[in-house]
Amino acid sequence: MKSLIDDETIETILWTVLFEQSGDAMVVLRQDGSVYRANQRYADMLGYTPEELGSFHVWDWDIRFSEQELRQMLLTVDNSSAHFDTRQRRKDGTITDAEVSTNGAIYKGENLIFCIVRDTTERKYTEERLRQNKELLERIATQVPGALYQYRIAPDGTRSFPYFSEGFAALGGLAQEELSGTDVDDIMSRLLPEDAPEIERKTQESASTLSHFHAEFRIRHNDGSIRWIECRSTPEKEADSSIIWTGILLDITQRIQAEEQVRIMAITDGLTGIKNRQEFDRLLEHEIERANRYHTPLALLMYDLDHFKQVNDRYGHNTGDMALKTVTSLVNDNIRGIDIHGRWGGEEFMVLLPQTGLDTAMDVAEKLRRTIAAHPFDKLGSITASFGVVELAPHESSKSLAQRVDEALYRAKELGRNRVEV
Ligand code: GH3
Ligand code: MG
Ligand code: MG
Repeated sequence: MKSLIDDETIETILWTVLFEQSGDAMVVLRQDGSVYRANQRYADMLGYTPEELGSFHVWDWDIRFSEQELRQMLLTVDNSSAHFDTRQRRKDGTITDAEVSTNGAIYKGENLIFCIVRDTTERKYTEERLRQNKELLERIATQVPGALYQYRIAPDGTRSFPYFSEGFAALGGLAQEELSGTDVDDIMSRLLPEDAPEIERKTQESASTLSHFHAEFRIRHNDGSIRWIECRSTPEKEADSSIIWTGILLDITQRIQAEEQVRIMAITDGLTGIKNRQEFDRLLEHEIERANRYHTPLALLMYDLDHFKQVNDRYGHNTGDMALKTVTSLVNDNIRGIDIHGRWGGEEFMVLLPQTGLDTAMDVAEKLRRTIAAHPFDKLGSITASFGVVELAPHESSKSLAQRVDEALYRAKELGRNRVEV
């Protein structure tokens, strides 16, 4: 039975549906580079009409390849498909980037090249913008102290650093190459083990509440030193339920050290390096509380240098200062680590002896008295000190204790100096 539609009609329909109305820009070339047929979409892309294009050769608008190169390319096209990028000039003189897929076929006895052309100007533009943004980010990152980074926890628990700036390696004293991957274990192993649980706790909390992450922790630098790092970041939940933190890492070692120095200065006597009055008072309260709670004895001894006014008068204030330093360091060398040595005022000092009864405290005082008396001081020869010793009574206040030890010291002075009184 004869078909109702003849071959020619089928062909017309195919050209119309597949070619003319295609969403893709298409052009069919002859092997000599002339246009066999171009669809509306392709004509629109270049700003011509399909009829105008019909009188062109491909080298009239392609600007990436020369006529010779294009002639060569046309000859080698076969029925396997090929892809390449090119650039084309529109009727108005502007340039488009294009990606071309070609396929050669024989149609009605003629070698034709079927081309599908995609305008990639927009994509190229986006890629260029991305590249510029990345470059800008890197430039900013090098200006920021420390490092910028991203940290991700995937839904399966896998952790990674999708991004970190150049400064990241420097924080740990590593060479850039040593951080080629984003391996978390490698980086995390630098964290001091005692700081790790707290970081993990904060990470989990930040992940579950999507709240700002802030932590200060220590890492081991490549040079063996310990560095303090401050970390601030903000988490975001991604479409796949990953949590990704974006933030900054700073080396705050100097700040921490300065703070520590200020803290020490605030509790230390400038001349002798022992506890100042304020800190000694605080520690005295603390030790009284402890002694009461645990029912342990607590002894306090106070000493004052004998005839120290004369030392100053005769040898000058500087020599007096030197003597005070020497005396306190002699005392430091002869007490335990848990004993607390403080400057009460002028040349009066206190030593608090936790877990120590009166008898032992007297022995300690006696040993200190002898040590000071036996020491040959520069320029001034020998110096002596008088000592008062007391033990904390039940329910006694710090004020009463200090008053009693002062009275004991006074008695030692009264009774001739260079002696210990209870
Ligand atoms: P006593 O045996 O009774 O203690 O006689 P003293 O001369 O030591 O008398 P007192 O303890 O009352 O005098 C304290 C003197 O210590 C007064 C002051 O000139 C001196 N002094 C106090 N603080 C300092 C200090 O920081 N440096 C120096 N060089 N001298 C100080
Ligand atoms: Mg004195
Ligand atoms: Mg005094």
